[in-house]
Amino acid sequence: MVPVPARRALLAAALGLAERRGLPRVHGNGCLLTPPRPPRAALLSPDPCSPLPTATAAARLSSGAGGQPEADSPNRDTAMLRHLLLKLRATGPVTVAEYMREALTNPGQGYYTRRGDIGDSGDFITSPEISQVFGELIGIWYISEWIAMGKPKAFQLVELGPGRGTLTDDILRVFNQLASLLSKCDVSIHLVEVSPKLSEIQALMLTGGKTQSDPEENSAYMKGVSKTGIPIFWYTHIQDVPPGYSFYLAHEFFDALPIHKFQRTEKGWREVLVDIDTEVPDQLRFVLSPSSTPATENFIQPEEMRDHVEVCPEAGVIIQRLACRIEKDGGAALVADYGHNGTKTDTFRGFRNHKLHHVLRAPGTADLTADVDFSYLRNMTQGRTATLGPIKQREFLKNMGIDLRLQVLLQNSRDTATREQLLRSYDMLMNPKKMGDCFNFFALLPHHRLVHPDKKHKPESKSPQLPVAGFGELLLK
Ligand code: SAH
Repeated sequence: MVPVPARRALLAAALGLAERRGLPRVHGNGCLLTPPRPPRAALLSPDPCSPLPTATAAARLSSGAGGQPEADSPNRDTAMLRHLLLKLRATGPVTVAEYMREALTNPGQGYYTRRGDIGDSGDFITSPEISQVFGELIGIWYISEWIAMGKPKAFQLVELGPGRGTLTDDILRVFNQLASLLSKCDVSIHLVEVSPKLSEIQALMLTGGKTQSDPEENSAYMKGVSKTGIPIFWYTHIQDVPPGYSFYLAHEFFDALPIHKFQRTEKGWREVLVDIDTEVPDQLRFVLSPSSTPATENFIQPEEMRDHVEVCPEAGVIIQRLACRIEKDGGAALVADYGHNGTKTDTFRGFRNHKLHHVLRAPGTADLTADVDFSYLRNMTQGRTATLGPIKQREFLKNMGIDLRLQVLLQNSRDTATREQLLRSYDMLMNPKKMGDCFNFFALLPHHRLVHPDKKHKPESKSPQLPVAGFGELLLK
């Protein structure tokens, strides 16, 4: 175990890393990114964290209009819409979860399968795309935990839903900067990505496009080697990733998983379903199940106080898998997303071209998303791991030393435009009205990680626990 002051020194070294690369992200043509567009959460007003403050679920159900802004949402006939209309005619209404799964990840026409346009010119922008400082600080978090856990000889970094691969790329740069520290550690990267299109973009970003499809030796569908020589594997499901000591990362992943929606009625809980609108040709609408469904029986707690509830069982299954793996093989998981602690009601929304998009219009052409219920995730770990958070993004990044990093970058940048861009990106990540308050960090750690070594032998010891970076202040000297 490296003593804490030594760890701080190492982190300080990492924070001062690669000044030139710390500048705002540069496109291939060498132009600085134009000011980032508002992220998904920041588009919503007046409360950026409450997407539908005025429309009640009931009103939206009766109107079938989704109660959402119609901005840039033509009722375009899409291949996905035709597919869904055929399916609904054959089977009757489907759950919102089934609709969301089809619209996002249908192998032929799903949004992520075909479009998945993340970034300034796409449908939505995420923190790693706004500033590489974000990924650098997360890279430092993993190194810090690796040191705190006694520098295991090998670890897998497993990212769920890596988007364009930007976050892993920024993390790998930190690992490379600290190569002397990691020289005796066998590091490998494992990406869980359902979209063939996005996995190609990730491969280009991380390996320069040099990959091998259908590798024989394991369940990965593709493999390659990073620009810095680290093996990278791609999988469709988390259960395909080989067991072993692993650090997991899920940034804006859980919000993309299918949710079930439930509405309290005079007759009891009913599930919200998606059906064909009988009054408007080739259009979809929400309806309520005529009676309770297996989902209403299983997912609504007797003590539930809200009138409208969203549950994401797939997120529950995945977090349970992560907790089991961490309990058995060691490691940690960092989840960052917008969300709540079991308090919000109707958060289902769509985004296209950086604008709110009606969730039932032109399916397959827009990102669909719902806030993550962190209390549900915590319950689903079933005590197999300890959990930390959720804490707000601005608190996590502050604790990780973002201010110090910004100062270093500002001091080293010569031109005003770069400095302004640095300040804009910082504001986007940290401002409570933008991404600072809406996004949360949540971690799973083995129970022993939160017990001070002395306490194992001397339970009466009053000495503080080792700090977990990000969730507590990390003093960088
Ligand atoms: N983490 C990235 C991208 C977020 S978008 C970022 O922050 O920029 C969601 C990502 O999850 C995309 O890569 C999408 O293709 C992937 N994804 C969505 N549903 C998935 C599923 N069921 N299994 C695996 N990946 C999924």
